[in-house]
Amino acid sequence: MMSPAIYPWQQAVWRHLLSYIELQRIPQALLVTGLSGIGKRHLAVAYGRALMCQAPLNDYAACGSCQSCKLFEAQTHPDFLLVEPDEPGKAIGIDKIRQLIVKLALKPQFDRYRVVIISPADGLNNASANAFLKCLEEPTARTCLILLTEKPSRLPATIRSRCQVVACDAPERDIAVHWLKQQGAGENSDVLLGLSQGAPLLAREYARQNFITVRQDYFDAWLQVAEGKKNLLALAEQWQKPAALELNVLLTWMLGWVADLIKFAAQIESDQLRNSDLKKPLQALAKRLELKRLYPFYDSLLIARSQLSTPINKQLLLEQILISWSQLNNR
Ligand SMILES: [Zn+2]
Repeated sequence: MMSPAIYPWQQAVWRHLLSYIELQRIPQALLVTGLSGIGKRHLAVAYGRALMCQAPLNDYAACGSCQSCKLFEAQTHPDFLLVEPDEPGKAIGIDKIRQLIVKLALKPQFDRYRVVIISPADGLNNASANAFLKCLEEPTARTCLILLTEKPSRLPATIRSRCQVVACDAPERDIAVHWLKQQGAGENSDVLLGLSQGAPLLAREYARQNFITVRQDYFDAWLQVAEGKKNLLALAEQWQKPAALELNVLLTWMLGWVADLIKFAAQIESDQLRNSDLKKPLQALAKRLELKRLYPFYDSLLIARSQLSTPINKQLLLEQILISWSQLNNR
């Protein structure tokens, strides 16, 4: 039977989790991996609720009506602990792990499982990761630690090796498109999924933020640079302003545009363009670009994106990108 609370693309991994409960082999620690916007937190919470429920259903999912389920819904369950940074993107400080260790020293209040979600687990810094290791090395009874991450390679091997890995894959395109349409994303579902690397929840968020229109404005300016009709320095300044789009997103868009240009220039037959709505302008552009010069430009964009997390001069970075892009088009 399909559990209604679980996203359609997570049914298999959900049944896998429930089988831990059925077989009474509940891992002490899980590492749930997968792209941002794919539903890792949702899945972890559903599993945690099943572990805490006092009267689970036949398929071992939470009942939704026992005292434990009601406390969870009221966000006051004493055996459910969520550890996350104070602000998105910040580290999870050691003080939070110290508080967790103190709480774990006590027994769970109910006679079911206690559930701890660490989100994102790659938000642990060196000190807090070391402290957290103690929780893994000295397990407490009836406690399940669930770590969520998009970037498992950023976690110390000492932590990864002590967790059971549960991988959440991106859904097949058809399933994701169907779901997005149900969510009201309409005609743009396919493009939105291309922009979110196939992650449906992120695609829905993009739809709500009207990302298609925003992206079109950036794309038009990028085309004008190619045609030599834009002041590069002014554009770089405009694009790196705090109120402008996150540079990470902009560079990911550019990478997508260049990836599609490469497909056209190399005459690779592909029904999966990243930007199917921009096919015509990209195709026209590709006609006058050299393939062998597109590859190094693509690489330079990748490098630029990886430098964003360092204290780099963003204005200069954008200027360099736009200058290379302009030179690529005008020689
Ligand atoms: Zn229940």
